[in-house]
Amino acid sequence: MNTINRRTILTTGAVALAGATVRSDSADAQVGAKAIFPIGQATIPVVGLKEVFPVRRIYCIGRNYAAHSREMGSDPTREPPFFFQKPTDAIQNVEVGKVADHAYPVLTKNYHYEVELVAALKSGGNNISPDKALDCVYGYALGLDMTRRDLQRAMGDEKKPWEIGKSFDHSAVLGPIHPVSKTGHFTKGAISLAVNGAVKQSSDLKNMIWSVAEQISKLSEAFELKAGDIIYSGTPENVGPVVKGDVLLCKLEGLPDMSIKIV
Ligand code: MN
Repeated sequence: MNTINRRTILTTGAVALAGATVRSDSADAQVGAKAIFPIGQATIPVVGLKEVFPVRRIYCIGRNYAAHSREMGSDPTREPPFFFQKPTDAIQNVEVGKVADHAYPVLTKNYHYEVELVAALKSGGNNISPDKALDCVYGYALGLDMTRRDLQRAMGDEKKPWEIGKSFDHSAVLGPIHPVSKTGHFTKGAISLAVNGAVKQSSDLKNMIWSVAEQISKLSEAFELKAGDIIYSGTPENVGPVVKGDVLLCKLEGLPDMSIKIV
């Protein structure tokens, strides 16, 4: 972080209040400049801490389990990893031991669940090697990459961006973050999702095509990763639709369950 003065702000074309002191690590983004009105910083609770995890970016990997890749119409043996983002204010935090209401979103008639392991970073960089990548991980959470599948497919068919199918309000559901110091890293373990008591998705993290370490490494070739970034690591096969009234129960070996009700 460096301090820049008002002259610097004016020459970069950004707006700041007269006399405001601006602290920034990016002259373009004016991070830390005094704002004309407040907006919230997205955060995630951390188990065992009063402090929360501040979210900088949400990355998601696509088609990271071979069987899910095939059900989406791809050939997993030939596909390098690819990523998309959700806006940070799409986060819905779900408390352990509660069933959180989750509103069925607008525009869709085919709303899908995708249960996923989520990695939360405490550091980052560019071109991080896979053997150093897990040093960046602060902790892990259980997440749902909720998807308006009909809109995602329609946009894909037209070779347009997925945004409307993936990056809408409340689409990034997740439980609290568990620090690595308490859980260790997740490279294997059962992951599942049930709807109204019937198991729909059931796999093991060892079936991920790209491990969390490899995901971080690959992502860092395209983007500078930083503390506060979180990564949804992909969903197993048998994604499917929900309707209002459905109760979803997500399980990941080593973490508490997470549950939501579609309302
Ligand atoms: Mn997903």
